[in-house]
Amino acid sequence: MESDHSALLENSLDGLHLELLHLFAHQAAALQTPLYLVGGVVRDMILGRAVNDFDLVIEGDITAFAESILKKYGGKILVHSHFGTAKWILNESTFKRLDFPISRFPDFELSFDLVSARSETYAKPGALPDVERSNIDDDLRRRDFTINAMALRLDGNHYGELIDPLGGAADLDNGIVRVIHPKSFIDDPTRIYRAVRYEGRYGFQIADETLALISDARPIIKELSAERIRHELDLILAEPNAAFMLARLAELDLLKPIHPVLFYDEAAHSRLANIGSFRALRRISPWNLDRGEGTKRVLGWLLWLMSLSHNDIGSLNLRLQFSSDFLASLFAASTMFSTLSSFVDIKPSQCVERLGLYPLNAVEAVYFIALDEKIKNVFFKYLSEWRHVKPHVTGDDLKERGLEPGPRYGEILRRLRAAWLDGEIKSKEQESTLLDELL
Ligand code: ATP
Ligand code: MG
Repeated sequence: MESDHSALLENSLDGLHLELLHLFAHQAAALQTPLYLVGGVVRDMILGRAVNDFDLVIEGDITAFAESILKKYGGKILVHSHFGTAKWILNESTFKRLDFPISRFPDFELSFDLVSARSETYAKPGALPDVERSNIDDDLRRRDFTINAMALRLDGNHYGELIDPLGGAADLDNGIVRVIHPKSFIDDPTRIYRAVRYEGRYGFQIADETLALISDARPIIKELSAERIRHELDLILAEPNAAFMLARLAELDLLKPIHPVLFYDEAAHSRLANIGSFRALRRISPWNLDRGEGTKRVLGWLLWLMSLSHNDIGSLNLRLQFSSDFLASLFAASTMFSTLSSFVDIKPSQCVERLGLYPLNAVEAVYFIALDEKIKNVFFKYLSEWRHVKPHVTGDDLKERGLEPGPRYGEILRRLRAAWLDGEIKSKEQESTLLDELL
């Protein structure tokens, strides 16, 4: 592979990003500070894939560089000089100064992450490393895989130089995920999970020598904090190919070392594999649930683990420390899953009583996996219609009719709602006749 990759930069990036990188390059050259694009962005550009986050590494004074950018182009800069990191967030004033032909400021936040080149040493396996300022070569050597350890230099005459001391481009060409040194997984076992993720995402193979390093690191997986291991599984579950990746984790015996109840069987695989991409998900669920960030990931966790018993979920939670919202959804999904057959021929009012207790994302997860048409339809009706049904009469009306406030309010309103749901009443008049009877 030729070392001048300026054409790659020009061809992979949109006008705006390219313009901004040129501006960085110019400023870095003026300060005689080597500046590089590194890691995933270089990998994805070479693969011809869309790039989103731009990680920049600087060899030199990060504060001086950040200040010079701020002075010239405005925006906002958050510098942590202690950690050697800076984030530049562009704002409208930047755009005015840039004189960039863009009709309006984009509605997403546009920012760039900048870090000082560093080397890392691991005092204790599985813990976070000690970090020291260093040069680009060390910075690439501290990384996880050769395919993630390439840099493209940006400043001045060096624009477009590929720095690839570890053979990343060749491994990328051959579709190989390879660690950089034999102690890599022992230093940081999260890399094992990352390897499986890249393998599954790009259809690559983990190198044989790299696979052979897993067994020595397996005992250290238990040292990883809940947050770190959960984060890796989160990243996997957010991938379109998540089902395949989990199957691979099971095959490589990487689930039990996290926690003995963590499994992946055929049934879990078909629950997850059928869901496919998140876009498909939007098409098949007509109801309007709040689709916040991480919805696909949360749904993935629920589909995967809903077959666990409450006991096992409780025990797994001690290891992974789920958020309380997620834990509630998982318990709910597990309850529904284990009592699924009781939803055949259930009355709408009973269904609402039962499902009304559960978080909607859990109900939706169970809807997706229900195979029996009748049961699926019950869940469908609940999500799209029944949960919205309310009587016309309100608490205020009951007060007006002289009823003492108390638990009877709830009972009466529930009774009226049930009558609507089950088709006993079909009009406002019928509702008030029923109310008269109840009072
Ligand atoms: P993705 O597309 O998954 O975001 P990425 O390469 O951008 O891929 P990040 O998790 O954003 O991955 O990390 C950025 C870079 O930091 C990686 O390319 C890699 O060089 C390095 N890196 C991340 N995690 C580790 C790790 N656990 N050990 C060593 N290097 C890492
Ligand atoms: Mg990234």
